[in-house]
Amino acid sequence: MPKTLDEFGRLLVLRTTTNPRLVKLLERIKSGNAAIGECDGGHGYSMTLRDGRRVEVMCGYDALMTSVFQRKGDVEAECPHCGEKMKIQIEQTRVSKASPPAIVFWLGAGPKDAPGNTICDHLHLFPNDEHQRAWVRSRRDELGVSMTLAEVVEFLASAELAVTRGT
Ligand SMILES: [Zn+2]
Repeated sequence: MPKTLDEFGRLLVLRTTTNPRLVKLLERIKSGNAAIGECDGGHGYSMTLRDGRRVEVMCGYDALMTSVFQRKGDVEAECPHCGEKMKIQIEQTRVSKASPPAIVFWLGAGPKDAPGNTICDHLHLFPNDEHQRAWVRSRRDELGVSMTLAEVVEFLASAELAVTRGT
């Protein structure tokens, strides 16, 4: 179990960079031709890749971490609680546009096994913290922390740097 938020962030990034299936994909992800967690849709997250291809991904982490790796992001998301639409743009490792402006990220671990198996359902974006609180209340034993969009992007960028440096 990670004991601090920084440990949790590094474990999340390590999960991506050391997953055997993802290691092969990582170079394609970094060059802008693939995304973490690409799927057939239905999870409420999508993004545009460098070649203009629009892809669906599994969770908020997949969309934001891919954006950090690519130093560019064009993300659309739907509130997991009510379906409200969100749009996010990332330039380098900073948020350049967010609509609505008060988007928050839920860095959840679920009731146990943090971070581990099916954690995508605990890594969500919300239009604001009221939507996030309503969603958390609707779940059983959901554990996690809420971060602003700017905070989580900075958090993922610093976790990536820590993993890259091996610290
Ligand atoms: Zn909502």
